[in-house]
Amino acid sequence: MNTAFKELNWQPNTRILVVLAHPDDPEFFMGGTLAYWHSLGFHIDYLLLTQGGLGQSEAFSDEAALKVIRRAEQRAAADVIGVHDVSFFDEPDGFLANNLELQRDLVRHIRALKPDIVVSSDPTLYYRGTRLNHHDHRMAGQIVAEAVFPAARNDGFFPELKEEGYPAHNVKELWFSLSKDPNMTLDVSAFWDTRIQALKEHRSQIQDIEQLERYLRHFANELHGEGKYLEYFRRLVF
Ligand SMILES: [Zn+2]
Repeated sequence: MNTAFKELNWQPNTRILVVLAHPDDPEFFMGGTLAYWHSLGFHIDYLLLTQGGLGQSEAFSDEAALKVIRRAEQRAAADVIGVHDVSFFDEPDGFLANNLELQRDLVRHIRALKPDIVVSSDPTLYYRGTRLNHHDHRMAGQIVAEAVFPAARNDGFFPELKEEGYPAHNVKELWFSLSKDPNMTLDVSAFWDTRIQALKEHRSQIQDIEQLERYLRHFANELHGEGKYLEYFRRLVF
């Protein structure tokens, strides 16, 4: 069942942490929602688990150089949305894997930022239509889910973190984008242009932004009607 977002009554100081695999995932998956949330006064931070060193273009064969470019592009896109902190881990692009060290780092990060809401991508989406979902997108969702629940909220997980000054923190909600099974629909038509402006900052990943914009607009119009733009999520509550 779908709940209208405004019925959730999130407080103006609500803290949101977006954790995804690659630079450009936030704007591609949920740029309208993030711009909408920023307009409501919520505090938004990003964490990208990889720095996207492989990218989508063979034009960039220098992985170290591409990482630098993509970090800068992600920061610029986040500025368009109104995001505060943008952090990066340096997990291997294309081969994101769950392990204890990464879980510890992510739990530390969550406990340090104390978000009310964590947003990631649905770990159960293997494919949709004729499109295969990227391995890293699924893995990011799985890694984030396990860090949020139960590790971040239980001092028994990684007890050394409490000694470091990061005691347990309760995240209230976990949202997944790219869900086959959404239970939240947000009308972000008013924030469509902001999302496109933010996407334009990912220059190394987009060959032809005008073609992409036409495609995205056509796709949204086909689905929802002229000028209407919706984003979908699976919302989990703790
Ligand atoms: Zn991605």
